[in-house]
Amino acid sequence: MVKPDPAQVRERLLKGLRCQRMRDVGLFTGDGESDPDCNSHGEEVTANFVQNIKGMVEDGSLGPKALFMAEDLFIRQQIESLQAMFSQWMARAAAQVDGENIPFKEIIIWCQNCHDWEKRRALRIEARALCRFLAPFSHATWQALMSVVKEILGYEDYLEFCQKRRSTPLEKEYKRCQSILEEGRDQYFSEVESWLKRVYPGKSLEETTRFDAIYLLGMRYLDHLAGGGLRGDLALKFFESLGVGTGRGVQIHMDGTPGRQTYCVPVKVPGEIHVIVGPIRGWLDWEALFHEMGHAFSFLHTDLRRPVEEREFLTSGAVSETIAFLFQRLSLRREFLLYILGPGADGLVGFEELEQIHALKFEVLKRRYGAKFLIEYENFSKERISKGQELYADIMHRETGFSYDPETYLFDLMPDFYSLDYFNAFVASKILLKRLEQNYGPRWFLNPAALDHIRTCLTNESLDDVHGFMKQCLNRIKAH
Ligand SMILES: [Zn+2]
Repeated sequence: MVKPDPAQVRERLLKGLRCQRMRDVGLFTGDGESDPDCNSHGEEVTANFVQNIKGMVEDGSLGPKALFMAEDLFIRQQIESLQAMFSQWMARAAAQVDGENIPFKEIIIWCQNCHDWEKRRALRIEARALCRFLAPFSHATWQALMSVVKEILGYEDYLEFCQKRRSTPLEKEYKRCQSILEEGRDQYFSEVESWLKRVYPGKSLEETTRFDAIYLLGMRYLDHLAGGGLRGDLALKFFESLGVGTGRGVQIHMDGTPGRQTYCVPVKVPGEIHVIVGPIRGWLDWEALFHEMGHAFSFLHTDLRRPVEEREFLTSGAVSETIAFLFQRLSLRREFLLYILGPGADGLVGFEELEQIHALKFEVLKRRYGAKFLIEYENFSKERISKGQELYADIMHRETGFSYDPETYLFDLMPDFYSLDYFNAFVASKILLKRLEQNYGPRWFLNPAALDHIRTCLTNESLDDVHGFMKQCLNRIKAH
């Protein structure tokens, strides 16, 4: 057998990755635009091709990341048709509340806008029924993923597959997560309870569901504090001043509905980054724009001298998420709002409250993703993907205070332990922001030295290992 040329293999993988990402951009923007270069089926990643790469990694002619890239492309091809079927059924499903038709995919946006407590109870009942109906399609996709990993790629189980890519053992992450959640639990519960009572006097946390959490976290009831001053161009001007904009290859797609799911897709790192967001109606859309531009910031500062696999293929999203959350946190800090909205900004008193509520929102999210990771770890290690519903409902309630229906379990599962990346990034971004504010003051975002520190960390530190990244990065900031 002729041994494939490593440079050609690398080239083929990169092309596959770029095409996949271009397809994602088309899917997320809804314009379906695709690169004519990507339509040839000759580029498909076959099981044989993955096997060849495995051999090349073993003999040292390719690095382990080439295999991970190939496996990801292969898995995606294998489960694409099941996923498409699942999406089609989801697109047809809708809940009925008080004569209103709410498409399944728009339940989150609907909850963000629905102040009516009773209507959200009615939605819960509908959502449970829809999830029960859709669960077999989601389950089939998960099952297919598990069997590709075991039967074709030859891993012992999904846990081993994920573990191979991680720099820290998942078991260690599990214990760390557990202890962080344990530490902050009591304070968290009393703060969330009083947040709820400020919005719904007379209600208690025990009565709430995840749909109430979506409403609270959406913060639409505080949008009036912005006095109409939140404008996308202000945010983009700020990022331009940091060197993150169209001139550096960032393309902004701003369309769809406020509150929509937003994305940052790096088609080429660092040269072609797509940010897909909705129009800015309130805080939620504002912070989402900062989050995605934060990702763009992290990709743009990836050093071109790094080997291509290191730039284009990260085995963990936690470092990029940390930078995204850092800018998301910044976007609602009082000092930042006073700066960006100008001295005439309305609601100056309200900004204090807004800042506190936003910090609490991040605590809710940190606990939500921490809890999800605990559940995913338990369920994947015991291979009981279809039996994890009760555990899910128990742990989510215990850690967040909001009740979760067992039926929504499969719809909340994330592949590749991305929940862990989010959890770590929530924790890390809080520490990083605090350190920047301590060293450079609340207006650190105007200080070139502070921004240079973050850039230097992104250029020099490991982008696959958030713990190592944070350790080195905090040392650099301290050394200043
Ligand atoms: Zn993100």
